[in-house]
Parts: sequence; structure tokens; C-alpha cells
Amino acid sequence: MKVLVFCEKCGNPKRLSNYVLKAYIATAHHVYCDVCQHENEVTSNLRRYAFQLRRKQGY
Ligand SMILES: [Zn+2]
Repeated sequence: MKVLVFCEKCGNPKRLSNYVLKAYIATAHHVYCDVCQHENEVTSNLRRYAFQLRRKQGY
């Protein structure tokens, strides 16, 4: 499953793979927009989902 986050500034959708979610989002505070480089905050829901993925796959 892929997760989409939308940039708060320009609305550009960014696709996050499970790998990125596990390796990066679980511990990151921000996710950068590919278009305008705006720092979007990683929401608590998104972080929780990333941790669920880690747990499921035995990190
Ligand atoms: Zn943007």
C-alpha cells in the first residue's frame, strides 16, 4: 500500500512507499515537498502508521 501526503503549501501529492515510511517517516519530523521544498510536518497518524508497518515486519 502506498500513502499519499499533500503539500500544505502547493498541494503537490507525494507518494510514500512502505520502505520510506518505515525507514524515514517513523523517525522524521518533516517530509519535504518535491516541488517547492516546503517542510510538511509528519502527522501523528502518519507516524503511527509507519510504526505499525515496522512492528508488522519485525524491525
Ligand atoms: Zn509543495
